[in-house]
Amino acid sequence: MLQQSRTPRETIGSYWEASVDHVRQDRQLIGNAHFDVAVIGAGYAGLSAALKLAKSGLSIGVLEAEHVGFGASGRNGGFCCLGGTKLDARQLIRRFGLDEARKFAAYQVAGINLVAQRLENWGVDADCHSKGEICLAHRPKDLASLKEEAAFLKDNFGIRTRVLGKSELDSEGYGGPEFHGGLHMPYGFALNPLKYLLALGDQVRQAGGRIFGKSPVTGVNQDGECWRLETEHGYVRAKKIVLAGNGYARETVPKWLHGRTLPVMSSIQVTRPLSEGELSDQGWTADTMAADTRKLLHYFRLLPDRRFLFGTRGGIFEKAPALTAMQKRARNDFETMFPAWAHVETEFAWHGNVCLARNLTPFVGEVPRMDGIYAAMGWHGSGIAMASLSGEKIAGLVTGSLRRDDLPSPLQIPFRKFPLPAFRKLYLQGAYWIYGWLDR
Ligand SMILES: Cc1cc2nc3c(=O)[nH]c(=O)nc-3n(C[C@H](O)[C@H](O)[C@H](O)COP(=O)(O)OP(=O)(O)OC[C@H]3O[C@@H](n4cnc5c(N)ncnc54)[C@H](O)[C@@H]3O)c2cc1C
Repeated sequence: MLQQSRTPRETIGSYWEASVDHVRQDRQLIGNAHFDVAVIGAGYAGLSAALKLAKSGLSIGVLEAEHVGFGASGRNGGFCCLGGTKLDARQLIRRFGLDEARKFAAYQVAGINLVAQRLENWGVDADCHSKGEICLAHRPKDLASLKEEAAFLKDNFGIRTRVLGKSELDSEGYGGPEFHGGLHMPYGFALNPLKYLLALGDQVRQAGGRIFGKSPVTGVNQDGECWRLETEHGYVRAKKIVLAGNGYARETVPKWLHGRTLPVMSSIQVTRPLSEGELSDQGWTADTMAADTRKLLHYFRLLPDRRFLFGTRGGIFEKAPALTAMQKRARNDFETMFPAWAHVETEFAWHGNVCLARNLTPFVGEVPRMDGIYAAMGWHGSGIAMASLSGEKIAGLVTGSLRRDDLPSPLQIPFRKFPLPAFRKLYLQGAYWIYGWLDR
């Protein structure tokens, strides 16, 4: 399954890169070009928008700072699951009402279905596995909360989950000293995120969309009836623009974005393949994707080739010593949660940015007071399904085939500015301390 990566330029160091034989480097934008719609960012959101727009007959240019697969879409955990907000179901109901919360839940399920349907339609083998996902109680007392959650989801959303006690976890291959019960959600599956993304990029090119690599947009300015996107070696003019930079977006591209998002690091490690003996020593043989009940959660799954993927929050700073400390902390957590594998080497370790917003909900819509500029961003760490579907939806808003109110209310609210944005990293550090304490 592993192939020698022939990626000529900088690599992320991810297992996903090593699992494909080629990561395509699209040509840089040199000179000037005009498109009906220009998209900033070649992740799931930008490429999904580009695909839909190109198929509707519009000329599309996607400007990507590095290459398809550089952003979070090429380096995530591959959990195609519910999510996209940091508000829980109760908060969503309080803020938007039960009907809108239900509409939003249905939207998340539709996102999962869209990804599954695409893989099937395109004939892509993305190493899929796992029927649904399981949330594991990291303290005995959390099992009671999972039971309450199961009843709440059934009563309000009609979602039928399954609650597992400790003995069921052990007998079904979810063994570990920190797993005291579980809640199985029937939605979602796991995939190789880069294989999916590369296929999406191919679909865009086949539909006539142009993707430019190594073309970071450094400015967006009004130019007559169009917008002009500046890059190092040229510019693009377009009447409409889709912002899809998410956790990699530049703060002032356009100026409206300044102080409105918070990039947050997440980190992943992948071990060497485990033997059958090692799997049974730990008692973990299930192939269901899993996360724990911590606020600073860990997410993990046994990959089809028996490697173990283990993800957790990243650090605050991207300097080398901070990254080393982050990987060490993640490895310690792994050894605590899976002690029988303390001797098993980590073969791949990498990190990337997710995107948080002050509202704690994504934004899929037209940017206020910037006619023709649309944004689809802020998936709060769960973007495979959410960004894929929202990319399609933003295309609908751009062409006018969809109205703002067709979207669930939680997606309609433009990002608010963080108070004193310069201190965002400090807020994050504070949140980590508080959550770390609550998780004990
Ligand atoms: C380590 C990690 C694990 C994760 N695990 C999961 C998971 O298991 N399940 C899940 O659902 N989600 C997960 N996520 C989140 C998910 O990957 C993202 O929400 C999703 O990929 C975002 O897609 P996107 O298209 O919005 O942005 P991205 O994929 O980040 O793409 C944005 C692109 O925009 C480009 N860009 C930004 N600014 C500019 C500019 N000015 N000019 C040109 N290009 C620009 C960037 O280079 C980047 O390639 C994870 C994320 C990380 C980092």
